[in-house]
Amino acid sequence: MNKYQLITFGCQMNKSDSERVALLLESIGYQSTSNLNEADLILVNMCSVRQSAVDRVYGLFPKFKKLKTKNKHLNTILTGCILKQDKKILKNGFDLILDIKNLSKWPNYLNKITTDRSLLEKNGNSPLINPLIKPKHKAGLSAFIPVSNGCNNFCSYCVIPFTRGREICRNHQEILKETKDAVKKEVNPISGTTYNNAKEIWLLGQNVNSYQSPAKTKVNFPALLKMINDIPGNFWIRFTTPHPLDFSDELINVMADCDKVTEYLNLPLQSGDNEILKKMNRPYTAEQYRKLVEKIREKIPKITLSTDVIVGFPSETKKQFENTAKLFKEIEFDMAYISRYSQRPGTKAIKIKDDITRQEKERRWKILTDILKKTSLKKNKKYINRIVDVLPEYQTKDYFLGKTREYKTINVQIPKSKFQINSEVQNLKLIGKFIKVRVTGALPWGLKGELLP
Ligand code: SF4
Repeated sequence: MNKYQLITFGCQMNKSDSERVALLLESIGYQSTSNLNEADLILVNMCSVRQSAVDRVYGLFPKFKKLKTKNKHLNTILTGCILKQDKKILKNGFDLILDIKNLSKWPNYLNKITTDRSLLEKNGNSPLINPLIKPKHKAGLSAFIPVSNGCNNFCSYCVIPFTRGREICRNHQEILKETKDAVKKEVNPISGTTYNNAKEIWLLGQNVNSYQSPAKTKVNFPALLKMINDIPGNFWIRFTTPHPLDFSDELINVMADCDKVTEYLNLPLQSGDNEILKKMNRPYTAEQYRKLVEKIREKIPKITLSTDVIVGFPSETKKQFENTAKLFKEIEFDMAYISRYSQRPGTKAIKIKDDITRQEKERRWKILTDILKKTSLKKNKKYINRIVDVLPEYQTKDYFLGKTREYKTINVQIPKSKFQINSEVQNLKLIGKFIKVRVTGALPWGLKGELLP
């Protein structure tokens, strides 16, 4: 049987695409392997959001070359978010570049790959995530379910509207069906193993809260959340990434009222300076962002908040950066994804001179990281002695790692004495089960906990 390995870079949307690719490959006879040396097919699902992510793909070229000298039948395929400009060079390192939007046609290409290595697919134009191609979710854990694909916002630094195209929303019925399937507990009659049974549903969209079902019935994002919340079963709902501009009161109320919607939100700020926000084509002000956070915290007091910030956007003065640092400090985020600006081909911002030095970007990054360390530690300390629900994601005999409902990472030590632990713990079967844990310690990037007796 042919074996494949899937290497995924980037966001949850890419992970979701990879889940579909995996099942498609398995439906045409491939078997997954974690050993690159025994793979007949290596598929890289790439991300173009930052140059460093693109460089990681270039970094794979020598490895592929070496593997091909050992295995003459090895084929390599590239897919994902690929800029036209990068494609020309990237095609030298791969046998084939396939457009993720044309997934349903992949079996044709995969059959031909061994006979025609010059195949290079043009940009696909199939508009939607093909509902017939099912994803291979990790049993008992998270299911990534796209509600839309692409983006109409054209933030001046971002390549997504060019790589994924304009926003197209899926029919809400299709999303509901996929969610019901994902949370359904099914047992393979032959192996006896459980599959599906997702405990965490991630609703994905580049601008998730601008969702509007194309069906005749008007279903917006809050209405969709409510419908998913009504699906029977014990699971959590998370979503990413919302845009501050589309964050309505209706959405805040639905989040507060729906018991399965977790108290976690990633709300990208990008900059705390109004001039820079304008140059980024982010149509809100620092004051509007602050007010939105206040409203959310008032209605959902337990919410944990993370954000995305870019430092060193072209022309960002020290004063403008200080405005970001000031707001960043004031809001006290639980977590933040802080990136140093890097030029991306095709975007509007590339026309503005990238005039902030690497050292200065580094300095600004460090200032925000130091603020974050303090605020997140302060927030995490408030959890000490609380009992929290945890979804374990990784387990050894000594400890497990998981996420709390509020998306805090927690490390839970497993007691040494066998008398203190039940058989599920002993048999390393905690993954995919909700576990009650007492928080015993706090670190800047997470919590420590102990199992309850
Ligand atoms: Fe890119 Fe997000 Fe802006 Fe869309 S909203 S252009 S995905 S940064």
